[in-house]
Amino acid sequence: MSHSYTLNHRQAACFTPGRGGNRITTIVIHHWDDPAKNPSFNGTVDWFVTGRGRNSAHYVVEAGRVTRLVAESDTAWHAGNWPVNQRSIGIECNPRASEADKQTVAALIRDIQSRHGKLRIIGHKDASSTACPGRYYPPAQVLAPYLGGNSGVPAAPKPPAVSAPGGSVDELARAVLAGKYGNGEERKRRLGSRYAEVQRRVNELIAGKAPAPDSPNLDALANAVLRGEYGNGEERRRRLGHLYQPVQDLVNRKLGIR
Ligand SMILES: [Zn+2]
Repeated sequence: MSHSYTLNHRQAACFTPGRGGNRITTIVIHHWDDPAKNPSFNGTVDWFVTGRGRNSAHYVVEAGRVTRLVAESDTAWHAGNWPVNQRSIGIECNPRASEADKQTVAALIRDIQSRHGKLRIIGHKDASSTACPGRYYPPAQVLAPYLGGNSGVPAAPKPPAVSAPGGSVDELARAVLAGKYGNGEERKRRLGSRYAEVQRRVNELIAGKAPAPDSPNLDALANAVLRGEYGNGEERRRRLGHLYQPVQDLVNRKLGIR
């Protein structure tokens, strides 16, 4: 099938070789930034090439053109959630989200799926706390009209209905705190009819608000981490800085991990 875009290759400064033995299951949709800040395609590519933000994505996309910055077989630093990074391909999209932008994003997704099979399509905010991907959210629905038709690859799907999980409210709340049910929409979807009672219990387990990262209040910081407000993996490390280890130790104690 012919490409409806030109594909260039650059190399991002920040990435991790390989996938840690994981299969690719997911596409994570991002946008470059708030359109009001006037972000550009070349500016975004340069951002990842220099590694100024200590982050990366596999692809940067706008109408008619795509630059690949990290090989699909390697892990890009994009989702703020290490297990998601290891299993996903990150696509950075023009935040203005024109029809032509969305057509090119969809063409790239079809090409990716021709290599990896049908993949789940989620937004950055499904993996960690952020406004990204702006106008592309929720991406499976926003892109569905562009992915359907005669591509030969199943159209982007609404996430399959998941029946509510079993177990006590307390067990489920602890699983949520351990990160097993994701954040935001994903958590809602996966907990189904049990979402409200479980989330209530999660909130009970974690009282308080997120303090600034330079606060010496390790307990409040650990609770903020458990609420997902500091992301995972590299992002959490970066944002907590020198407090990372004492806070993470406390998080592990709260989760009963010794
Ligand atoms: Zn993003």
